[in-house]
Amino acid sequence: MLRVGINGYGTIGKRVADAVAAQPDMEVAGVAKTRPNFEAELAVERDYPLYAAIEERAERFADAGLELAGMVEDLVEESDVVVDATPGGIGEQNKPMYEAYDTPALFQGGESADFVDASFNARANFEASVGADYVRVVSCNTTGLSRLVAPLQEHYDVQKVRATLVRRGGDPAQTGRGPINDIVPNPISLPSHHGPDVNTIFPDLAIDTLGLKVPATLMHMHSVNVTLGDEPTAEEVRAVLEAETRIKVIREEEGIDGAGKLKELAQDVGRPRADLWENCVWGESITVEENANAGVDLYLFQAIHQESDVVPENVDAIRAVAELADAEESVRLTNDALGLGF
Ligand code: NAD
Repeated sequence: MLRVGINGYGTIGKRVADAVAAQPDMEVAGVAKTRPNFEAELAVERDYPLYAAIEERAERFADAGLELAGMVEDLVEESDVVVDATPGGIGEQNKPMYEAYDTPALFQGGESADFVDASFNARANFEASVGADYVRVVSCNTTGLSRLVAPLQEHYDVQKVRATLVRRGGDPAQTGRGPINDIVPNPISLPSHHGPDVNTIFPDLAIDTLGLKVPATLMHMHSVNVTLGDEPTAEEVRAVLEAETRIKVIREEEGIDGAGKLKELAQDVGRPRADLWENCVWGESITVEENANAGVDLYLFQAIHQESDVVPENVDAIRAVAELADAEESVRLTNDALGLGF
């Protein structure tokens, strides 16, 4: 069993820990936290050894009645791979610690692409991270766009992607985020950083992205337009997307009219934390319009659950770094263990 340490046990870290624990070929070596809180108690309840991330605050855990297994350095030494799920920018500061213990590490989408060996998306470029030491699992939005672009590129001549990302103001637990009552172009200047980030996965892809922030916490919503050099029908494109294991094509009969009902569905089917690991593409929205220059313009809407779509990707990135499986086998193992697809 591969031993995986998780440094940073918040929104992403706690989900990755549970996903690792569910896999047949890896186990949680421990989780590192900065302070004792309900999530630290949860880690102990789940039998994840708890490590303190900041030495000066270590005694606070004992004061809260939580037993520590050691300091974060002990966890890094103890682990075969570390998943760093600390807030954006902290991962880069942690890299020297991983280097000091010669422990490969994964970082998250809030980090710069500049200090890692590769950026990762299982569907698009698993191979680039095989045996690498430092890998960045791209952000929730970049993951969502990459899962869509990869099969389109395999089937069609993708000439240009244009995507408008209507982003949730904050996660449900982020009480300090906003806007509370506004619709904010963010950033106002074009392109948003998402397009260049998608280029860390597809270097040659022509893509422009625009971003907005709205008063919502449930999911992001992408309005996507892809210019294709060939002329598939909407039904053909829909069939291509339906064949993807990490894309749910929402059927008309389901009566799902937005992110609220998607989250309701996730709760109803018993998904942990109401997580939606898949891109959720509205089947009805998949439309092609003839393009005057040749080919067609493809349009669709997809919803992306920011808190969870990167979770199966982290599991696959662990396997890539540790050379445990190839892309196909890893995705199959991860999907089976988590229960993707509905
Ligand atoms: P979070 O704030 O929910 O969790 C981060 C955790 O790390 C917190 O528990 C925090 O206390 C802890 N922490 C802070 N400093 C630390 C340190 N020095 N050592 C160890 N732990 C430390 O953040 P998150 O939403 O889980 O984001 C983590 C990363 O994942 C970021 O790079 C973010 O951009 C990326 N990401 C977030 C989302 C999302 O929607 N939440 C989606 C995809 C990617």
